Amino acid sequence: MKENHLVWHNEYVKRDDRNRLNDHKSGLIWITGLSASGKSTIAHSVEKKLFFEHSIRTYVLDGDNVRHGLNNNLGFSRDDRKENLRRIVELSKLFIDAGILVLAAFISPFKEDREYIRKRFEDDNFLEIYVKCSLEECERRDPKGQYKKARAGIIKNYTGISAPYEEPENPDLIIESQKVTIKESVFKVIDLLEKKDFIALRRSMHKDSNTAKLHGRE
Ligand code: ADP
Repeated sequence: MKENHLVWHNEYVKRDDRNRLNDHKSGLIWITGLSASGKSTIAHSVEKKLFFEHSIRTYVLDGDNVRHGLNNNLGFSRDDRKENLRRIVELSKLFIDAGILVLAAFISPFKEDREYIRKRFEDDNFLEIYVKCSLEECERRDPKGQYKKARAGIIKNYTGISAPYEEPENPDLIIESQKVTIKESVFKVIDLLEKKDFIALRRSMHKDSNTAKLHGRE
């Protein structure tokens, strides 16, 4: 690391204050799995339910989206993948301090990287979810046509084809997206968030589902 003379400026409004105001915890829900396993679909569906039905402040950080902006100077070499994750982790830290429940959907294929992420967060602010799906099924889904390109050698270093995916050994939740529906997956995540005291679902479902309708999201 470069030498610098920076000094952290202490804030008056702290994370706990924001969590109290929002009436829910902030934290990082890290969703790992092969491309097309269903990470983004699940993250966005969970967000929709939490935001519209339970007034929880959420934000989805999504692999492709982050690579379009903040990380558009990074590729898929081992070093670039590490830097990609380091920036996402620091970005998530700021979101969490700002009181947001972050759902991060990233392939994050290496154990070493995921351990680094876990260490960077305090235990009560981090959960890891593994969306498990066979490579065959992911290739069959291939929603962005990337597996086809990877098989043809057009995309290099593609996880599952020409780069490894190391399965998580001890995630907080495994969702087998080949065996359960999207709706069931969403319930599993929300159930975990309740069990881990991230959220307490006590607001009126009726009023809030009307809000979702008003916004045309139902
Ligand atoms: P990823 O973010 O892991 O790359 P996506 O969410 O972009 O994956 O794509 C997953 C695809 O699989 C979507 O087209 C989605 O509709 C489909 N799918 C089928 N069953 C499920 C499931 N149970 N959970 C999530 N996605 C599923």
